[in-house]
Amino acid sequence: MKLMEEKILNEGKVLPGGILKVGSFLNQQIDTAFLKEMAEEIKRLYQDSEVNKILTVESSGIAIAAACGMEMNVPMVFAKKHVTSNVDGEVYKTKVHSFTHNNYYDMVVSRDYLGPQDRVLIVDDFLANGNALRGLVEIVEQGEATLVGAAIAIEKSFQDGGDRLRSQGVRIESLAKIESMSDEGIIFKD
Ligand code: 5GP
Repeated sequence: MKLMEEKILNEGKVLPGGILKVGSFLNQQIDTAFLKEMAEEIKRLYQDSEVNKILTVESSGIAIAAACGMEMNVPMVFAKKHVTSNVDGEVYKTKVHSFTHNNYYDMVVSRDYLGPQDRVLIVDDFLANGNALRGLVEIVEQGEATLVGAAIAIEKSFQDGGDRLRSQGVRIESLAKIESMSDEGIIFKD
C-alpha cells in the first residue's frame, strides 16, 4: 500500500533496538481517515474469504481491528494481556513474549466470543518476530475456529516472524513491508 509507505517515510521515527515509532498516525494519535483507508484495503484483500470475525490483541491492534470490523460488517474480538475475572476453564489462553517490553504475558480470550463457527481474520499493527501473531493463531486453534489469514499494518521483514508463519501455511498480507531501517532511511520490500 503506497500510502502506508509514504506515511512511514513522512512520519515514522526509527528508534534504537529496531523499533519504528508511528505514534502520530497509528499507535497513539490515530489518523482516522487513513485508518479507514487501511481497513478498506484489508477488506479488499480478504473479500472472498467469508470472514465473520476479526481477532487482535490489546492495545495497539484494537483501532485497526475495529476499523476492519466496521468495514467488513463483522464483530471484532481482542485478546486481553492478563487473566481478568474469568476462571481458567472459561478462556483460551497462551503465553507470549513481548517484543516491545521484553517480558512474557498471558494472551486471553473468553470462550464466549470465539468458536468452531468462526472464520477468523487476525489483524495487528506490527509483525516483527511473530510472537504476538503466533499467540493469536494458537487462540484460534484452541477455539477450533478457521483461520482465514492475517492482515498487518507494518511488517518488519528483517525480522523472521512473517517468513516463519508463512512457511507454516498462514496467509499474511502486510500493508507495508520494511526490508531495512536505520537513521539513514527506510527501505521497503517489493
Ligand atoms: P512480534 O510479536 O511480532 O515480535 O511483535 C509484534 C508486536 O510488538 C506488535 O503487536 C506491536 O505492538 C509490537 N511491535 C513490534 N515491533 C514494533 C515496532 O517497531 N514499533 C512499534 N510501535 N511496535 C512494535
